[in-house]
Amino acid sequence: MRTKLVVGNWKMNGNLDQNQALLNAVVAGTRELQNVKCAVCPPYPYLAEVQRTLENTHILWGAQNVSQFDLGAYTGEVAAEMLLDFSCHYVIVGHSERRSLFGEDNHTVAEKFKKVQDKGLTPILCVGETLAQREIGETERIIEEQLDAVIKLVGVDSLVKSVIAYEPVWAIGTGKTATPSQAQGVHLFIRNKIAKQSETTANGIQILYGGSVKSNNAGELFSMPDIDGGLIGGASLVASDFISICLAAQ
Ligand code: 13P
Repeated sequence: MRTKLVVGNWKMNGNLDQNQALLNAVVAGTRELQNVKCAVCPPYPYLAEVQRTLENTHILWGAQNVSQFDLGAYTGEVAAEMLLDFSCHYVIVGHSERRSLFGEDNHTVAEKFKKVQDKGLTPILCVGETLAQREIGETERIIEEQLDAVIKLVGVDSLVKSVIAYEPVWAIGTGKTATPSQAQGVHLFIRNKIAKQSETTANGIQILYGGSVKSNNAGELFSMPDIDGGLIGGASLVASDFISICLAAQ
């Protein structure tokens, strides 16, 4: 049995006061959770605040991005090694906003994935198709390419120490959720693809769904056999919504 995981991706939102209130509420509201892990990924400048607030609680935390380079002359970048100073557990890599707005290609995403794992952190690898790609029947090919770039660099067995998030681009921030069966279909495709190379890795890896997950659709999505939790954007900024989504994963 895979443990369910619910991760809040705050994206570029928050401030010190709001974060504190949100974190305190989420800690209190999820105290009774059984068999579900929860985590939040704030913007970099708030990692110290999140670390201070969440250490010694049941909630984990991580970063939303990382550099593909080691320490050095890379203005504006943050190295995986730095994230260790803030006891991060997870690092999101290859989010569709990074791919589409900041030009990250499959190879760069794979390099980031490797840097994260090399430092003993757990990458959350985002994959997913655009609406145009889905409409011309390219969903599986696109996801396969996104996964293959990583598998080529780190090997399929390394995936067992990672999390995959299927986030159809057309469902992110749009209010359009993939139906539970649409999402399940892609999750099964991903698991079967990995199983062709390693059955153990395929059975162990957590595959999250992301894209307009709300308190009123989380339960149905999380009840699908290959959906192991969610990567939550907008709804992770509202304590009551995020708590309900975490509870729906039980
Ligand atoms: P929304 O939940 O706001 O659609 O965002 C999903 C997402 O991109 C999480 O990484």
